[in-house]
Amino acid sequence: MRKHYDLVIAGGGMVGASLACALLPVAQALQLKIALVELQPLPPPGENRFQPSYDARSTALAYGARSFYQATGVWQRLREHLTPIEHIHVSDRGRFGVTRLHAVDEKVAALGYVVENHWLGQVLLDHIRQDDSGCLDFICPAEIQSFTPCEDYSLLSVKTPDGPLELQTELAVIADGGRSGLREALGISCDEHSYGQHALVANISLDQPHQHIAYERFTDSGPMALLPGETLDGEYRCGLVWTLPDDEVARVLALSDAAFLQQLQQVFGYRAGRFVRVGERYHYPLKLTLAQEQVRAGLVVLGNAAHALHPIAGQGYNLALRGVTDLAENLIASRQMGVSLGDLARLQLYEQRRKADQLRTIGFSDKTMRLFSNPNPLLSLGRSMGLQLLDVCPLGKTLFARTAMGLDSPALQLPR
Ligand SMILES: Cc1cc2nc3c(=O)[nH]c(=O)nc-3n(C[C@H](O)[C@H](O)[C@H](O)COP(=O)(O)OP(=O)(O)OC[C@H]3O[C@@H](n4cnc5c(N)ncnc54)[C@H](O)[C@@H]3O)c2cc1C
Repeated sequence: MRKHYDLVIAGGGMVGASLACALLPVAQALQLKIALVELQPLPPPGENRFQPSYDARSTALAYGARSFYQATGVWQRLREHLTPIEHIHVSDRGRFGVTRLHAVDEKVAALGYVVENHWLGQVLLDHIRQDDSGCLDFICPAEIQSFTPCEDYSLLSVKTPDGPLELQTELAVIADGGRSGLREALGISCDEHSYGQHALVANISLDQPHQHIAYERFTDSGPMALLPGETLDGEYRCGLVWTLPDDEVARVLALSDAAFLQQLQQVFGYRAGRFVRVGERYHYPLKLTLAQEQVRAGLVVLGNAAHALHPIAGQGYNLALRGVTDLAENLIASRQMGVSLGDLARLQLYEQRRKADQLRTIGFSDKTMRLFSNPNPLLSLGRSMGLQLLDVCPLGKTLFARTAMGLDSPALQLPR
């Protein structure tokens, strides 16, 4: 069977689902027909699946992301389980440099928000599945197997439990994640650099409230982040991202919970309190990836399929969300002008805008990461002094905070 769409989004992860949510408010007025295709099966809609498991992963959303969720109509629900970041504490373990940022000083309600990934996913996908405009088909579970560009449209072949399906579309958005099989099949190569590190991720409980402080701590083995989480059943929970050299990660993963907590405490120190419990530990190899092509006629590569960065500065999804905003605005304008959504010249305008933001964000997180992972004593002294100087310079702090909060990026503009 062949079905016709204006837009097909391949992948209903955090990025693909966000793009669908961004376009939904205007889809009916613009007569947009969208398909969102997701590989992983989901529980039935409406089922209350938010049972906060101890092992859920968390994402730090920049303050600027709030306006995106407000514009798409999911903010009220999303905020039910968000933890505001009111203070950010950046320090160099064992050295004197410290920088502190406070929401009050920056005159905002929060510097950012921490969300558990499964809650964000549930809110976005419920919003999509509850839509009754008839503009969006959520095809799930289903796997996009191939993409064939034709002159004015593209063909996507899809495998579903009910048999094969063929989708014809003006534009296909590839949002199938970091190990993007579709990007690879299209012959789009990437610039890649391995950090020689893994991120070890786990939920941790403290013996005292986290006071809404997010910690960025730089240690000799690599940077670590501790994000404030929801307090549940009296447990003061935090999300840990601990960067470890490749040859260290297996040993740390194999430690008993008690030995792990002891080593973590030793490396992190007691600034946040005593670590009393750890959930399941996950690990991810860290590399910097940037797709060399992000648009072709009738094609856009988005989210982790386009770029993956070091997670320590919490920028990956926030950068992708700015891409979603730019792309949604570009597509809305194309539609209003009567131009095909897959028009290459229009997509190249979008790509130009994205490249500048991507290079800036990657440059910032990559350089910071390298500087703070370097044990050279002279560099260590320099960065301690840098942190100390930043702490006493209000203008520098405000500029730093605005970048971290994503306040420099424009809000999603939807036509009325
Ligand atoms: C340890 C760690 C911590 C992080 N912390 C932060 C943070 O604090 N802040 C931040 O901004 N970012 C953070 N990030 C980055 C963030 O997690 C990613 O940017 C984000 O998950 C990318 O989402 P995505 O939708 O592009 O990819 P994914 O989440 O991988 O989604 C891809 C989707 O496509 C589906 N799919 C795959 N193939 C097909 C196919 N052929 N057909 C149909 N569907 C398909 C998959 O099932 C999946 O649902 C972190 C990353 C890591 C590794």
